[in-house]
Amino acid sequence: MISPATKPFAITLDEGSSRANHTGSWRTRRPEMTARLSPCDDACPAGEDVQGWLALAEEGEYRAAWERLVQHNPLPAVMGRACYHPCENACNRRHIDQAVSIHAVERFLGDLALREKWSAPAPLSPTGKRVLVVGAGPSGLAAAYHLALRGHAVTIREALPRAGGMMRYGIPTYRLPRDVVDAEIGRILDVGVTLECNSPVEDIVGAIEGGGFSACFAAVGAHLANRVQIPTSDAARIVDALDLLRDVEGGDPPRIGRRVAVVGGGNTALDAARTAKRLGADEATIIYRRTRAHMPAHALEVQEAVEEGIQMRWLRATARFDPGKLVVERMEVDTQGHVHGTGDFETVEADTLVLAIGQNVDLSIFEGIAGVHVTDRVIEVDSRMMTGHAGLFAGGDMVPSERTIAVAVGHGEKAARNVDAYLRGETWAPPPRPEIAAFEHINPWYYSEAERTVQPALDLARRQRTFAEVQGGLTADNALFEARRCLSCGNCFECDNCYGVCPDNAVIKLGPGKGFRIDLDFCKGCGLCEAECPCGAIRMVPEAL
Ligand SMILES: Cc1cc2nc3c(=O)[nH]c(=O)nc-3n(C[C@H](O)[C@H](O)[C@H](O)COP(=O)(O)OP(=O)(O)OC[C@H]3O[C@@H](n4cnc5c(N)ncnc54)[C@H](O)[C@@H]3O)c2cc1C
Ligand code: SF4
Ligand code: SF4
Ligand code: SF4
Repeated sequence: MISPATKPFAITLDEGSSRANHTGSWRTRRPEMTARLSPCDDACPAGEDVQGWLALAEEGEYRAAWERLVQHNPLPAVMGRACYHPCENACNRRHIDQAVSIHAVERFLGDLALREKWSAPAPLSPTGKRVLVVGAGPSGLAAAYHLALRGHAVTIREALPRAGGMMRYGIPTYRLPRDVVDAEIGRILDVGVTLECNSPVEDIVGAIEGGGFSACFAAVGAHLANRVQIPTSDAARIVDALDLLRDVEGGDPPRIGRRVAVVGGGNTALDAARTAKRLGADEATIIYRRTRAHMPAHALEVQEAVEEGIQMRWLRATARFDPGKLVVERMEVDTQGHVHGTGDFETVEADTLVLAIGQNVDLSIFEGIAGVHVTDRVIEVDSRMMTGHAGLFAGGDMVPSERTIAVAVGHGEKAARNVDAYLRGETWAPPPRPEIAAFEHINPWYYSEAERTVQPALDLARRQRTFAEVQGGLTADNALFEARRCLSCGNCFECDNCYGVCPDNAVIKLGPGKGFRIDLDFCKGCGLCEAECPCGAIRMVPEAL
């Protein structure tokens, strides 16, 4: 048995030895070399060709891997840290041992690019068209990047003093260091994007027409904190989680006292509680009205928060807050899954109450714009990401969708393609999606066990008291190992199995990197090549009779 150099965990067979007579005419089925869509690619909201860049990374071709990655996502070092990596929930390898740690390899490539100062590709020649982007969060930045690469002159107007949106003013530095955010934004601006900070847009149509822009992409995010009426006395200190996180970023954290209670069950609540601990609170307690299973927060964040000593009070609802004393009602879940108060109350000691109960979009700049429709407090867009107002596109948190950075970046690229087409008077049609390489297409026998690499983590004492980054990156050796765990779902990795196993030597090698072809004069349709392909890159199709 031999193993291709880059797939040490894949077993391959020796070459066959017979070359039989022409047998093709007996066939009822014929093999086809195929390229299926890997589940990770299908699941990545940023539209990355994950399987493609992993394949390059496992050859040690890091620059080429990074270039493949940033064809879709200009923020890999950010995303390798902050993305909730739905790609890994879909990864076929999880049925063998554990999912490939895609985000960790992505982070490795992103960090390597920053260290090596790799630059983005050169933009196409100028089209003479100007595009306005409103909001310098991940969605606006991604749209600006892709539009600038297509030769358009892009100006981003940002309300806040610095670019980054929630990557800077929401996600704490212990999860996303700001030098990483700054460097990846810098590379986007270097493509030729103009950024105007402290420049809120108040009249969007006026800004488009007055600035001579031919189209606009709006990505203003969801920055209005939800409010609830909590019976309280004037002296009680209640702060909003977003304000807390933003003030910490601005270097002016509020006084929170020794004991902090945070109301909410999402990532913002956890970020606020973990931040409170780092600001010096001895006790930080999450108050959530449902159970842990219902918490919208990401499981890893909950785990890290618990490790850091954040207390969790599930099934508790806030009833009253006075200085030093938060009264909560115990809740219960009925057989239908509904949550009810029990009439039982208890007290949690708290100097500050932090509210993290969701965010809304500030829709004021869209009021009165012809064709713009609002449903459930978000702006409606069509399949092109265009609002009902011609030339006004929108994406990210302000449109109906999941609210994550990866979704925001995916919207940015999709909008850019459609804006580009719109400016040319054309329509962009996404390419048809191939069949997904399901686990049934994989031959697990050919892959040996290889445990997922664990990222190093900062020691607990430093985690609780400093804003230093919690998760560490992979070493080059670990990143290579991790990339090589990829099964290459649905795409040939030139293991030579089909070539070796074919009884009629009907599989013809075209040379390194060129793949294989089937010589149908010799193939008798036995299907051995399909059955023995490790990764589902061959399919048998019925022969036209
Ligand atoms: C605390 C917190 C933690 C999070 N953690 C994660 C995480 O770990 N992983 C993840 O995937 N997602 C996370 N999210 C969600 C994620 O940050 C958002 O989904 C994402 O940032 C949305 O991108 P966006 O570009 O649509 O909006 P934003 O990032 O909100 O950016 C919008 C930008 O528009 C600007 N703007 C607003 N109005 C105007 C105006 N009128 N004129 C000019 N500029 C304007 C804003 O100042 C802002 O810079 C988190 C969110 C929060 C609040
Ligand atoms: S952006 Fe997120 S979903 Fe996409 S490959 Fe990276 S970690 Fe996975
Ligand atoms: S094994 Fe590789 S190609 Fe397959 S889903 Fe996982 S990361 Fe993607
Ligand atoms: S098609 Fe499958 S069996 Fe043939 S070389 Fe490629 S990965 Fe190996």
